[in-house]
Amino acid sequence: MVKIEDLTFGYKRKGLLFDNLSMNLFPGKIYGLFGKNGAGKTTLLKHIAGLLFPKKGECKVFEQHSSDRKPGVLADIFVIPEEFELPGISIEAFVVINSPFFPKFDNIQMEKYLEEFQISNGQKLTTMSYGQKKKFLIAFGLSTNAQLLLMDEPTNGLDIPSKSQFRKIIASSANDERCILVSTHQVRDLGNIIDQVTIIDEGKIIFDQSIEEISKEFAFGKIKDGEEHEVIYSEEILGGKAAICKNKGMDSEVDLELLFNGVINNREKINNEFKK
Ligand code: ADP
Repeated sequence: MVKIEDLTFGYKRKGLLFDNLSMNLFPGKIYGLFGKNGAGKTTLLKHIAGLLFPKKGECKVFEQHSSDRKPGVLADIFVIPEEFELPGISIEAFVVINSPFFPKFDNIQMEKYLEEFQISNGQKLTTMSYGQKKKFLIAFGLSTNAQLLLMDEPTNGLDIPSKSQFRKIIASSANDERCILVSTHQVRDLGNIIDQVTIIDEGKIIFDQSIEEISKEFAFGKIKDGEEHEVIYSEEILGGKAAICKNKGMDSEVDLELLFNGVINNREKINNEFKK
């Protein structure tokens, strides 16, 4: 669905941010794009959405260069940016004006998502809090039924109940045709909704594996001194260590934060485990 090949890009008066970056996104998957602040997540999303153009290399969505900004392609992409401004109109007016750009827009779904997010219809967008605006935009984005949904730090500004509503809604909106890319530096916010972990650091994709492969390869948990484990990465915690160990047939939930820290601290060691 998205094919990025040898993407090279840098902002003016700065060095190259992306130097031959390649990655693919497939339908039917929810991707977690993780990276520290300034890693290049937003810039990557903007390339996919056709809002920034590669200096070299290519970025294709539905087999078309995203920089061509073809209406047929744009109708199937929805971006929820980290920063946005909404006009001083009602929810209904926004939907009437903007939904025609998305032929698969579904009003009934929109009502359902708003209800789930506890946002009452009839409100003026500018009078809503930042968190409510964000939830409104997520509801609108999902209701477009765009095949490609790009979300930049969607959980920023959401309170704890809203974050869990967000996870529930995203998980239930996934289907075989849709590809959802959620970028965040708050790794824990995505809980167990993602299928693929993609980590970007200093403009490079330094890790890209499915949750299935990660669970097959690694076991995550607390270990104590003296216990026998083949430790790949560990961190001191109260009363022992949080560790990523070689999986010797044990099922455990992927600890995204520990995995992220492990990859940032020693990407070679973690990645080597997938090459064996
Ligand atoms: P992230 O989304 O991971 O926080 P960004 O893609 O926003 O990262 O930024 C990557 C790098 O590019 C940072 O060093 C940032 O300062 C720089 N950058 C982002 N936007 C601009 C811009 N419009 N002009 C110049 N530099 C920018």
